[in-house]
Amino acid sequence: MRTVFFLTAAFVLLTGCLDHESAANTADDDTSVVRATANADGKVVKTDAQWREQLTREQYRITRQAGTERAGSGKYNDHKADGTYHCVCCGHDLFRSDTKFESGTGWPSFHTADESKVARRTDRSHGMVRTEVVCSRCDAHLGHLFRDGPKPTGLRYCINSAALDFVAAKAAKTKAETKAAGE
Ligand SMILES: [Zn+2]
Repeated sequence: MRTVFFLTAAFVLLTGCLDHESAANTADDDTSVVRATANADGKVVKTDAQWREQLTREQYRITRQAGTERAGSGKYNDHKADGTYHCVCCGHDLFRSDTKFESGTGWPSFHTADESKVARRTDRSHGMVRTEVVCSRCDAHLGHLFRDGPKPTGLRYCINSAALDFVAAKAAKTKAETKAAGE
Protein backbone atom coordinates (compact mmCIF):
# COMPACT_ATOMS: atom_id res chain seq x y z
CA MET A 1 0.00 0.00 0.00
CA ARG A 2 2.85 2.31 0.86
CA THR A 3 4.48 1.62 -2.53
CA VAL A 4 1.27 2.57 -4.29
CA PHE A 5 1.19 5.80 -2.32
CA PHE A 6 4.74 6.66 -3.29
CA LEU A 7 4.11 5.81 -6.93
CA THR A 8 1.02 7.99 -6.95
CA ALA A 9 2.91 10.79 -5.27
CA ALA A 10 5.74 10.46 -7.77
CA PHE A 11 3.24 10.50 -10.64
CA VAL A 12 1.53 13.61 -9.31
CA LEU A 13 4.89 15.25 -8.84
CA LEU A 14 5.98 14.31 -12.35
CA THR A 15 2.81 15.49 -14.05
CA GLY A 16 2.96 18.61 -11.93
CA CYS A 17 6.45 19.24 -13.27
CA LEU A 18 5.30 18.71 -16.82
CA ASP A 19 2.39 21.09 -16.38
CA HIS A 20 4.58 23.74 -14.89
CA GLU A 21 7.79 22.96 -16.65
CA SER A 22 9.16 26.49 -16.75
CA ALA A 23 8.28 27.21 -13.12
CA ALA A 24 9.85 23.92 -12.00
CA ASN A 25 13.00 24.60 -14.00
CA THR A 26 13.30 28.06 -12.53
CA ALA A 27 13.20 26.62 -9.04
CA ASP A 28 15.60 23.76 -9.76
CA ASP A 29 18.17 25.26 -12.04
CA ASP A 30 18.04 28.77 -13.31
CA THR A 31 20.34 28.08 -16.24
CA SER A 32 18.02 25.45 -17.69
CA VAL A 33 15.51 28.08 -18.72
CA VAL A 34 16.76 30.31 -21.46
CA ARG A 35 15.12 33.68 -21.45
CA ALA A 36 15.26 36.69 -23.74
CA THR A 37 17.22 38.51 -21.08
CA ALA A 38 20.99 38.29 -21.22
CA ASN A 39 23.00 35.84 -19.12
CA ALA A 40 26.01 36.74 -16.96
CA ASP A 41 28.18 37.15 -20.08
CA GLY A 42 25.65 39.56 -21.53
CA LYS A 43 24.68 36.97 -24.14
CA VAL A 44 21.25 35.72 -25.12
CA VAL A 45 21.47 31.98 -25.73
CA LYS A 46 18.51 29.90 -26.85
CA THR A 47 18.09 26.44 -28.28
CA ASP A 48 17.34 25.94 -31.93
CA ALA A 49 13.78 24.92 -31.02
CA GLN A 50 13.28 28.12 -29.04
CA TRP A 51 14.46 30.27 -31.93
CA ARG A 52 12.15 28.40 -34.31
CA GLU A 53 9.24 28.99 -31.99
CA GLN A 54 9.98 32.70 -31.56
CA LEU A 55 10.79 33.64 -35.14
CA THR A 56 8.96 33.44 -38.46
CA ARG A 57 10.44 31.02 -41.01
CA GLU A 58 12.07 33.89 -42.90
CA GLN A 59 13.48 35.50 -39.75
CA TYR A 60 14.84 32.12 -38.65
CA ARG A 61 16.36 31.33 -42.04
CA ILE A 62 18.18 34.65 -42.13
CA THR A 63 19.27 35.18 -38.54
CA ARG A 64 19.99 31.62 -37.41
CA GLN A 65 21.03 30.07 -40.74
CA ALA A 66 22.87 33.06 -42.24
CA GLY A 67 20.37 33.45 -45.06
CA THR A 68 19.82 36.47 -47.27
CA GLU A 69 16.49 37.97 -48.22
CA ARG A 70 15.77 38.73 -51.88
CA ALA A 71 16.97 42.22 -52.85
CA GLY A 72 14.21 44.79 -52.62
CA SER A 73 11.88 42.40 -50.79
CA GLY A 74 12.54 43.51 -47.22
CA LYS A 75 10.14 45.75 -45.34
CA TYR A 76 12.83 48.20 -44.25
CA ASN A 77 14.55 48.66 -47.60
CA ASP A 78 12.75 51.97 -48.32
CA HIS A 79 11.95 52.69 -44.71
CA LYS A 80 12.78 56.25 -43.67
CA ALA A 81 11.15 56.83 -40.27
CA ASP A 82 13.05 58.24 -37.31
CA GLY A 83 14.00 55.63 -34.73
CA THR A 84 16.17 52.61 -34.06
CA TYR A 85 16.48 49.19 -35.64
CA HIS A 86 16.65 46.40 -33.09
CA CYS A 87 17.74 42.78 -33.40
CA VAL A 88 14.63 40.76 -34.21
CA CYS A 89 15.97 37.91 -32.05
CA CYS A 90 16.99 39.60 -28.81
CA GLY A 91 15.86 43.23 -29.05
CA HIS A 92 19.38 44.69 -28.97
CA ASP A 93 19.27 48.22 -30.46
CA LEU A 94 21.68 47.92 -33.36
CA PHE A 95 21.31 50.73 -35.89
CA ARG A 96 20.03 54.29 -35.79
CA SER A 97 17.84 55.68 -38.56
CA ASP A 98 20.10 58.72 -38.96
CA THR A 99 22.90 56.43 -40.18
CA LYS A 100 20.69 54.72 -42.80
CA PHE A 101 21.26 55.68 -46.40
CA GLU A 102 19.91 54.79 -49.83
CA SER A 103 22.47 52.39 -51.28
CA GLY A 104 20.41 51.23 -54.25
CA THR A 105 21.28 47.62 -53.42
CA GLY A 106 17.81 46.53 -52.30
CA TRP A 107 18.80 46.03 -48.66
CA PRO A 108 18.67 48.43 -45.73
CA SER A 109 22.10 50.05 -45.51
CA PHE A 110 23.80 51.88 -42.67
CA HIS A 111 27.14 53.69 -42.67
CA THR A 112 27.66 53.46 -38.90
CA ALA A 113 27.09 50.86 -36.22
CA ASP A 114 27.84 50.76 -32.54
CA GLU A 115 30.81 48.36 -32.55
CA SER A 116 29.89 47.11 -29.11
CA LYS A 117 26.56 45.90 -30.43
CA VAL A 118 27.50 44.32 -33.73
CA ALA A 119 30.37 41.89 -34.19
CA ARG A 120 32.27 41.08 -37.37
CA ARG A 121 33.27 37.64 -38.62
CA THR A 122 35.03 36.40 -41.70
CA ASP A 123 32.58 34.65 -44.01
CA ARG A 124 34.12 32.36 -46.66
CA SER A 125 30.85 30.95 -48.01
CA HIS A 126 29.83 30.98 -51.69
CA GLY A 127 33.45 31.20 -52.86
CA MET A 128 33.89 34.73 -51.53
CA VAL A 129 35.61 36.28 -48.55
CA ARG A 130 33.22 38.70 -46.94
CA THR A 131 32.77 40.28 -43.54
CA GLU A 132 29.71 38.95 -41.84
CA VAL A 133 27.89 41.18 -39.36
CA VAL A 134 26.20 39.55 -36.36
CA CYS A 135 24.40 40.75 -33.26
CA SER A 136 26.95 40.77 -30.44
CA ARG A 137 24.34 39.70 -27.89
CA CYS A 138 22.68 36.71 -29.56
CA ASP A 139 24.92 35.99 -32.58
CA ALA A 140 22.08 36.55 -35.03
CA HIS A 141 23.29 36.87 -38.61
CA LEU A 142 22.38 40.38 -39.73
CA GLY A 143 24.12 40.83 -43.07
CA HIS A 144 27.52 41.84 -44.41
CA LEU A 145 29.88 44.79 -44.20
CA PHE A 146 31.40 46.40 -47.30
CA ARG A 147 33.84 49.25 -47.67
CA ASP A 148 32.04 51.18 -50.41
CA GLY A 149 29.79 53.22 -48.14
CA PRO A 150 29.40 57.01 -47.92
CA LYS A 151 31.08 59.44 -45.56
CA PRO A 152 31.85 59.71 -42.71
CA THR A 153 32.90 56.06 -42.36
CA GLY A 154 33.07 54.73 -45.91
CA LEU A 155 31.34 51.63 -44.58
CA ARG A 156 28.15 49.96 -45.78
CA TYR A 157 26.40 47.66 -43.36
CA CYS A 158 24.19 45.71 -45.74
CA ILE A 159 21.49 44.31 -43.45
CA ASN A 160 18.50 42.05 -43.98
CA SER A 161 15.17 43.62 -43.02
CA ALA A 162 14.09 40.29 -41.59
CA ALA A 163 16.85 40.52 -38.97
CA LEU A 164 15.55 43.87 -37.75
CA ASP A 165 12.67 45.22 -35.74
CA PHE A 166 12.12 48.96 -36.06
CA VAL A 167 11.13 51.04 -33.05
CA ALA A 168 9.99 54.58 -33.86
CA ALA A 169 11.69 57.36 -31.87
CA LYS A 170 8.38 58.44 -30.38
CA ALA A 171 7.47 54.89 -29.32
CA ALA A 172 10.92 54.33 -27.80
CA LYS A 173 10.61 57.57 -25.83
CA THR A 174 7.16 56.67 -24.57
CA LYS A 175 8.44 53.24 -23.55
CA ALA A 176 11.39 54.78 -21.66
CA GLU A 177 9.12 57.30 -19.97
CA THR A 178 6.70 54.58 -18.93
CA LYS A 179 9.57 52.52 -17.55
CA ALA A 180 11.04 55.51 -15.70
CA ALA A 181 7.65 56.36 -14.24
CA GLY A 182 7.13 52.80 -13.08
CA GLU A 183 10.42 52.65 -11.22
ZN1 LIG B 1 20.43 39.83 -31.10
